[in-house]
Amino acid sequence: MTPFLIDTHAHLDDERFDADRPEVLDRARAAGVGTILVIATTAATSVRCVELATHYPEQLHATVGIQPNHVAEAEADAWDCVCQLATHPRVVALGETGLDRYWDHTPFAQQEDFFARHLDLARRHKLPVVIHCREAEGDTVRMLRDDYDRHGPVRGVMHSFTGAQATAEQCLAMGLYLSFAGMLTYKNAQNLRDVAARVPLDRLLVETDCPYLAPVPVRGQRNEPAFVVHTATCLANLQQVDLPTLAEHTTHNARTLFGLR
Ligand SMILES: [Zn+2]
Repeated sequence: MTPFLIDTHAHLDDERFDADRPEVLDRARAAGVGTILVIATTAATSVRCVELATHYPEQLHATVGIQPNHVAEAEADAWDCVCQLATHPRVVALGETGLDRYWDHTPFAQQEDFFARHLDLARRHKLPVVIHCREAEGDTVRMLRDDYDRHGPVRGVMHSFTGAQATAEQCLAMGLYLSFAGMLTYKNAQNLRDVAARVPLDRLLVETDCPYLAPVPVRGQRNEPAFVVHTATCLANLQQVDLPTLAEHTTHNARTLFGLR
């Protein structure tokens, strides 16, 4: 039997899927990827993700939020739009939110402001947060730690985790999940594989972050949810379990974190 996997981070609203979205979803199902989270990055894509999750209720769930690199360009009513959508029945999490020092699209203080808003909204609606962190590990942990010390644990996942062992440990200590994407399979990612090998099975998630960063052996192609199997296989080897066992754990973890049936 094909193991049942959940792709916890897919940008299926992306125009690169406009021509063949139903086929992409069919291929995912055939590959055992029965559930997919479509992840918003702006107010407009939040609306779009909710529409997709409404259109494909068997397979898709949505998040709503504003990704840090898109905060600066957001319209004045963008945050209100996210707040309103947060209570939509197809929405299972907020984000992606977080901090990013790789790109310079949004002043850092403004990124911090919106990350704090997402954390606050998550608490108010008892929703988990999908956290993006790129070249900002220290700042992300600082803000999460500050929030944790004041309010206690927030439910959440460090998506497409690429951080150091110490960062992984700090996030795990706050009760967060770590999600791994295609980069885990790349030849030059031995450090990341060493980190992934040591994450407890009950805190692991898998994702594609498609259409970006397809895993080996499909690296270079447009990524899609069916390909999460390659990342899951890599993670199973690192954890020294078989793929069905890995899938059982990551799927259970995703259902627990995002409240899926
Ligand atoms: Zn993403």
